[in-house]
Amino acid sequence: MTTKLWERTRKINSPRPGSARRVPQRTCVACRQVKAKRELIRMVHTIRDNIEIDTSGKMDGRGAYFCPTRECLEKALIGKQLEHVLKSRLTPDNRERLIKSGQELLKELSGKNQ
Ligand SMILES: [Zn+2]
Repeated sequence: MTTKLWERTRKINSPRPGSARRVPQRTCVACRQVKAKRELIRMVHTIRDNIEIDTSGKMDGRGAYFCPTRECLEKALIGKQLEHVLKSRLTPDNRERLIKSGQELLKELSGKNQ
């Protein structure tokens, strides 16, 4: 079981995108790089008309993805990319909240690697 998971991880790093077809991939809304879905952070336009960061990966709604970096987080949220992808408007409140929780999430993620 562990071996299979490892093989899958190695395929994600394959230099040829065509050979990694079975790995779900998404485009970062900020830098437009295509990466494995699980390497990216998901944001969801929820039914309550909010945009929220989806740490479970299971929330309903239209999703957008960005790299777990501060640059992409800020670019996605401050620029129009996210709103465009999610076909939604961010209120200043919502935007602020997202940036804050995004930064907290990034801090948490980098803490796990230590
Ligand atoms: Zn990115």
